[in-house]
Amino acid sequence: MVEKLEKETNKTMAKDLKDVKKKKNCAFCNDKIDNLDYKDASKLKRFLSEAGKILPRRITGTCAKHQRMLSNAVKKARESGLMGYVFEN
Ligand SMILES: [Zn+2]
Repeated sequence: MVEKLEKETNKTMAKDLKDVKKKKNCAFCNDKIDNLDYKDASKLKRFLSEAGKILPRRITGTCAKHQRMLSNAVKKARESGLMGYVFEN
């Protein structure tokens, strides 16, 4: 599973290098989201790895502002028990 994730990560990074000129692709900016709801666990999970870790910005394309919101939301969700620290697979 780790190998698979690494492979996908490398693929994404290579693509990022090719698309340097492309505009930023922050999902939250696109949706004009100013307040991330930590209760929306299904949305937050899209920005976590299979292991439940927050994916770095260079992979998800999230901007600095929203990445910060995201990490806070994920932490809050974990504390409130909405999201586990480690995903079962
Ligand atoms: Zn953003």
